[in-house]
Formats: sequence, structure tokens, C-alpha cells
Amino acid sequence: MRPTIDQDDDKPHEECGVFGVWNGGDAAALTALGLHALQHRGQEAAGIVTLDEKGLFHAHKGLGLVGDNFGEAKVIASLRGGAAVGHNRYATTGETALRNVQPLYADFEFGGFAVGHNGNLTNAAALKRALVRRGCLFQSTTDSEVFIHLIAISLYSTVLDRLIDALKQVQGAYSLVALHNGALIGARDPLGVRPLVLGRLANGGYVLASETCALDIVSAEFVRDIEAGEIVVINDEGVRSVKPFGRQESRFCIFEYIYFARPDSVMEGTPVYETRKRIGAELARESGVEADVVVPVPDSGVPSAMGYAMEAGIPFELGIIRNHYVGRTFIEPTDQIRNLGVKLKHSANRPMLEGKRVILVDDSIVRGTTSRKIVEMVRAAGAKEVHMRVSSPPTTHSCYYGIDTPERSELMAAKHDMAEMARIIGVDSLAFISLDGLYRALGKPGRDPSKPDFCDACFTGDYAIPLTDWQTNSDKQLSLLQPAGQ
Ligand code: SF4
Repeated sequence: MRPTIDQDDDKPHEECGVFGVWNGGDAAALTALGLHALQHRGQEAAGIVTLDEKGLFHAHKGLGLVGDNFGEAKVIASLRGGAAVGHNRYATTGETALRNVQPLYADFEFGGFAVGHNGNLTNAAALKRALVRRGCLFQSTTDSEVFIHLIAISLYSTVLDRLIDALKQVQGAYSLVALHNGALIGARDPLGVRPLVLGRLANGGYVLASETCALDIVSAEFVRDIEAGEIVVINDEGVRSVKPFGRQESRFCIFEYIYFARPDSVMEGTPVYETRKRIGAELARESGVEADVVVPVPDSGVPSAMGYAMEAGIPFELGIIRNHYVGRTFIEPTDQIRNLGVKLKHSANRPMLEGKRVILVDDSIVRGTTSRKIVEMVRAAGAKEVHMRVSSPPTTHSCYYGIDTPERSELMAAKHDMAEMARIIGVDSLAFISLDGLYRALGKPGRDPSKPDFCDACFTGDYAIPLTDWQTNSDKQLSLLQPAGQ
């Protein structure tokens, strides 16, 4: 079962971050830095596997943040070698347990193999049932382990052919980094739903990373995005590209631009920060309202609020201040404390709100619980009117491609129309950017329903990759077919 999100944290959760190095000198240190830059993509666990010049693998994994696990010099020193793969985990499948922390490692007849996966497989349960029937013994509950078993039973001889054989059997979204004795390998699913980029180090070594912000931290030069359906094999001879799936139009995750990616990253050639400002400007054109001040819901709503304010010619103010030093539960979560929840993270900047008509800009509304508390807080600080503008279309469907969203039945926009949502959240008016407006902000003329440029299934229900492991139940909700052995 996919885990549901923390009630106090009413946002979809980022998926995972991956990083890989070939010929990087101190590959473990570079990977720890890269994972640190990708920390926003997963905070539950982190792991690094390195390969030394004698062909030996070294691994360290742990629950918690990158700094918790790789902050000590002796840990980095124990991870010898010039090549590495690393992974930040947010559990989209499987529970939070050390056995699920990636990169996963296995010894095959061809030698050691480590793999880190960002994304979600949509036929992992079906594959797992078949593999268990064949005698495969699963060590974890993460969907990513099917890669290991499919490679193990493949009849092909080379590592690359075995990996291609495995990838041809899986459905879903994946960006992979893998390491074996002969190469670092990167792979993206045929629709390129999740991101993966290639960078070059000053010493000639190569880096793979989920986002360009992880190249910046290790001073790697951006080379290019790995293409949808592409596998790159990186070794001392350079970078070899293999495209085993034939040509397909890519469907990159549009939510990366809205919320998941770090604003200083560039995704598929498009800078995230500027895109968010353009989305805000489009939102202002679509649903302008008279007001005195535009206030972002920090932090992710900030660039789109800036774009909104500039387009509307209304002052931008930080009317809500975010406390960055709140852990998940630093106080025992009694009901009284839970009710205070939002105040632990956000506080009203009263002089910026009192007596004013306020436009609040947020990037998404999932359950609506946090939005309601924020609006209450802004009204309590003396706002005269509160208008909510959202820089994504209404989230009406769950994600099955690696983003943790609640079940559909818990999504506010799946259950209520606009007027009801505005009443529940407690705002004077509510508007979301239109799907066409979002596409326009991304430089497209609009959404062509016969050939959408992006994955936008959480706004449209148009799932481009089959959901083999799910069935539609009597309430027209999708429910997971249970895998064997769980
Ligand atoms: Fe991204 Fe939404 Fe598609 Fe999931 S369903 S990959 S969050 S656009």
C-alpha cells in the first residue's frame, strides 16, 4: 500500500533523488554532496555504494537525512573508490525500514551490481508474484527490488542486455542509476516521467543526477538531460547511448515544474524558477482580483506569487513567515499540539496583513487541511479579505508514478466543486490555474488532449502508463492488488 502523507503536511511528497559518479576521485564525498543538494526529494533515508579500483564495493545506508548518515569523515573515508551511486529515499512503496534503503546491492555471476531508483513501478506487484512463484526470495518491500531479480534470471550474458531485458518487463516511471564493475549506468523510462541529467567534472569524470542543482554543488558542468527511454553507459571510454524502446513522445512530470524540483534547477531545458514566475503571471491574467497585497504560502509558493504580483501590479509581501527549524514531531503530538500544527511551521506577519485585502498564492491544494488553517491564521491577523490563488490545476487524481499523494477519496478537488472548496477553506474567492494556462506558462500553445506534452494525470486522470497493479473497485476508486508474499 502506498503510505499516506502526514496530516500536518498537506502536500504531495517528493519522490526520491538519485546521484551517480564515474571517475570522480573521491566519489563518496561527491555523492554525499549531490544527495545533500537533492535532500528535498527524500528525507527518510540515504545510501551510497562505491566501487574501488580493485573492483570491491563498499556501502553505507541509514535512516534519516544525508547529513545524519554521511556527516562523519570516517564514514566517507570507508567508502573507497572513484565511482559511486547514491539515493535519497522518500517511501512511495514499502515501509520505512533499513532493508528498503537504496541503492540496492546484489552479487551476480558477473559481479556486484548496485541500483538506485526514483519513480514507481506500476506492475511491480504482478512481476513480484511471478518472480516469487519462480523461487525468487525478496529481501525488501520496495518495488525497486524487481530490477534485481529480473536481472538475476535474465538469460542474456552482458550486464547491459540483462538490464534492458529487465526494463522491457517493467511498467511505470523510473530514473535509475546503477553501478557494476565495468560502468556507471543511467536509465529513464520510455516516457521520461522522472528527471535525470548528465554532467561532467573538471577532471573528465561524469555525474548523473536527478536535478541540475546536484551538478552545481559538485561544480560539474551540465552536459544534457538523459532522454526519455535512453540508457547511458559511462566508463573510461566515455558515454555510450542506447535506446532500446523505439521512439515515443515523452511525458515528463508537469508537477516537477510546479512544486517538486528545486527552484534553481533546470529541467528539460526549462529553468524551474522562471517557469514558476510565468505560472504566477498566467494565474494573475486568468483570475485577477482587486487586492492590496500578494502573499506567498512559503516556501514553494514564493516564485509564482512573485510572478502574480508583478503581472497584477500589486505589492508582494512576505505576510507569512516559515520556521525552517521544525522537525516532524519535536513535541509529543497530542490533540492540542496537533491543532496548533500549522503555527509550528508558519506564522502571520501581522503588519503586512492587518486591514488588507490579501491574495494568498500557493502551489497546490491536496486535502485542504493546511490551506484552511493558513487562511484562519491570516484572518486572525486582521486581513479584511482573503483570496486564494493556486498555481496548479485542481489535484483530482492520485499519482502512481512516484509521487506520494493521498488516495483519491481524500483529495479535496476530487470531492468538491469550486464553491464548496472556497467555503471549506474559508476564502472570499478561490481560483486554480487552468490546464491550458499551465501549458502556456511552459511555452506550449495549450494542452492538446490527443498528444499532451507532459504527464498531468493528477489533474486529468489521463494515466499514460498502464496501472497494472491497481483495479477499479465498486466506488470507482483504484485499489492495489496485493502482491504475493506481503
Ligand atoms: Fe507528476 Fe502528477 Fe504525473 Fe504523478 S501524476 S508523475 S505528480 S504529473
